[in-house]
Amino acid sequence: MEIKENLKTVTENIKAACDRAGRNYEDVTLVAVSKTKPNEMLMEAYDAGVRDFGENHVQELVGKMDSLPEDIRWHMIGHLQTNKVKYIVGRVYMIHSVDTLKLAKEISKEALKKNVTVTITVEVNIAGEASKFGGTLTEGEELVNEISKLPGLKIAGLMCVAPYTENPEDNRQYFRSLKNMADKLSLKELSMGMSGDYEVAIEEGATLVRVGSSIFGARNYN
Ligand SMILES: *Cc1c(COP(=O)(O)O)cnc(C)c1O
Repeated sequence: MEIKENLKTVTENIKAACDRAGRNYEDVTLVAVSKTKPNEMLMEAYDAGVRDFGENHVQELVGKMDSLPEDIRWHMIGHLQTNKVKYIVGRVYMIHSVDTLKLAKEISKEALKKNVTVTITVEVNIAGEASKFGGTLTEGEELVNEISKLPGLKIAGLMCVAPYTENPEDNRQYFRSLKNMADKLSLKELSMGMSGDYEVAIEEGATLVRVGSSIFGARNYN
């Protein structure tokens, strides 16, 4: 019951942010980030209409895929190791976290083998944090150029994980620079915004928001 209520709140917040920014609500996809959460909770969200789910570990993702409805669009949003690529290519709807050319080449190779096109976003380390993946804005641009030459891949846009902050306004500048970069490169999708800052992200142009704890509650990693 709580998940349904939470979804209602998040959806209303998304709509309000779209209104403030003069954007269409249909242009923003809510990706429900279900990592560490059991299948029953995902099914509660599914029954409330959610079809886009985000996970950050390959093993967990594949396990959930195998036991949940086939019309779910799975989003890989976490750091991906090249040796795990083969398990998800052809099965996920989008890989958000493509952060190196090496990883992109592996996805390309696997895509050709399976005769599929993989939709990705390129991850940018927008605030230059040591703990985060992806290159700087300048490196990101170079990476997009290199990746766009690879077969079997479609770069839909850019992705970032903004710094953790108590005040979402702190991240507005980062969302804005990612949007500028996407415009410059004529890329449409912007995967940015999490529980703490998705409304600001939408105001700055997010098309995919990755919201976990505001829907499913706090995570317990023990
Ligand atoms: C966990 C995670 C999220 C969701 O985080 P919340 O703060 O719980 O909304 C979004 N993006 C990535 C990459 C994540 O790993």
